[in-house]
Amino acid sequence: MIAILKNGTTPAQTEHLIQWLKNMNLDVHVSHGHEVTILGLVGDTSRVDIELLNSLEIVETVKRVSEPFKQANRKFHPEDTVIDVGGVKIGGGHFAVIAGPCSIETEEQITEVAMAVKASGANILRGGAFKPRTSPYAFQGLKDAGIQLLLKAKEASGLPIITEIMNIRALELFENVDIIQVGARNMQNFDLLQELGKTKKPILLKRGLANTLQELLMSAEYIMSEGNENVILCERGIRSFETYTRNTLDLSAVPVLHELSHLPVIVDPSHATGKASLVPTMAAAAVAAGTDGIMVEVHNNPACALCDGAQSLTPAQFDALNTKLRKIREVMA
Ligand code: PEP
Ligand code: MN
Repeated sequence: MIAILKNGTTPAQTEHLIQWLKNMNLDVHVSHGHEVTILGLVGDTSRVDIELLNSLEIVETVKRVSEPFKQANRKFHPEDTVIDVGGVKIGGGHFAVIAGPCSIETEEQITEVAMAVKASGANILRGGAFKPRTSPYAFQGLKDAGIQLLLKAKEASGLPIITEIMNIRALELFENVDIIQVGARNMQNFDLLQELGKTKKPILLKRGLANTLQELLMSAEYIMSEGNENVILCERGIRSFETYTRNTLDLSAVPVLHELSHLPVIVDPSHATGKASLVPTMAAAAVAAGTDGIMVEVHNNPACALCDGAQSLTPAQFDALNTKLRKIREVMA
């Protein structure tokens, strides 16, 4: 971190500031120019309140020269992280196809979809039991009973499963869940992230509706700094002024996250677009952008889905999508 002091700062003021910074266990390198003095701060600057430093009367400007995320940072971990989910690998050239309904509705529904997506090439089954709905009157998911049905579909299909946690109190229900999802709305629920960091479960962390990529990486850091390094990042679209699509899929997130971090990156074109007709094109674009996997909503009867039917593919559409993605991956390899 670099702090540039205002022209006219006295030596006594400079010395006072240096002592203050040293008390935070930082080394301070001083460079006196003709007009300005520059302080180079070396050490763990993650605890420095950049706004506070910037607001001091003698400080002209403060710049971070290193990212505040450490464990998720590729600089300190150059090789890709590969996450093993019940034998299925994600990242470092291993591609995940996660598919299933938005929410688990009945045993027949989740099992039928599980078998269908598996036959088409999915290697992980998704299904929501705890649903974060905008309206408190909308279907909230089958909760505990939903997890039990998902476990039955796991047994029937042999696919590892992913489902969302909304409250840490439900953690014991997730014992046989292979990946715990933190949804967009909880990306900055820091208590939840820290508690999940104390587990060893792979966590799929979705980008918040209005969060920057740096904020996403800082949230990953909350999990990792507690000891759980099994974090998968997920781009699922962000809020913009465009309303034709449910969200705006920020595909540049894929190469940016790969540049900044060693963690695997998954793209969810279903929540990004909100429209089944757009999902295959954006999934294909995500593969071309280098994603480590996709997560797609599939329902055996989208017209009757209790949640997100409009963006759900039928098993036949999902099958066609997989054939297309395999070809794109071959070209990309
Ligand atoms: C989901 O994947 O079921 C979901 C609710 O997604 P998001 O958190 O991205 O809205
Ligand atoms: Mn959904």
